[in-house]
Amino acid sequence: MNKTNTAGGARLAALPSLTDGPFFARTLLPTEHGEFDVRVLLDDAGNEHLAISVGDLAGGEDVPVRVHSECMTSEVFGSLKCDCKPQLEAALAHIQAEGRGLVCYLRQEGRGIGLGNKIRAYALQNAGADTVDANRLLGLPDDTREYSAAARMIEALGIRSVRLLTNNPLKLDGLRALGVTVNGRIAVVTGVNDVNHGYLETKRARMGHLYAADELREAQAS
Ligand SMILES: [Zn+2]
Repeated sequence: MNKTNTAGGARLAALPSLTDGPFFARTLLPTEHGEFDVRVLLDDAGNEHLAISVGDLAGGEDVPVRVHSECMTSEVFGSLKCDCKPQLEAALAHIQAEGRGLVCYLRQEGRGIGLGNKIRAYALQNAGADTVDANRLLGLPDDTREYSAAARMIEALGIRSVRLLTNNPLKLDGLRALGVTVNGRIAVVTGVNDVNHGYLETKRARMGHLYAADELREAQAS
């Protein structure tokens, strides 16, 4: 008999392993999108990043991977100023439908500038600045995201090569620079609305995002 008494007096048949390789925590999480294997990676700054996966990815080639940066305003409060929540949900649905894949959920709010600075930038946008100029007015870079936690996750899970779910060429280059073999891209044009159309158009025109102006109009119409 291998039963363990817990502090509350409950009896567990066996204690599960709470860590997994470099991951601080791991569990299966049922969600409205299906069940995911969720692992937590702690970085040197104390941020807890999530590896949300489907299937056994060890040795996998061309694994669909989304590297997604946290966006509280969109994902928690339903802000219409960006497309982060529908992008995240499309990625979660994609890896469930394909039966394998990974979403690296990185805790770097506001393209890395933090929640407070993002709200300050929104105030400048309300006064007429676009997303790039707002950051410059605040003396902040356009994009301070960095992807080393995602590269560590991909390596720790034994993934050999990936196809990235993204419209952002910086992510392809950023991951390649960290040693990840990126074999291609899966376009994610979703979540366009009347409020964020201008923001997405700025990302296309000024930040090199890889969708055409008419794709945005079509996604908005659908
Ligand atoms: Zn967002």
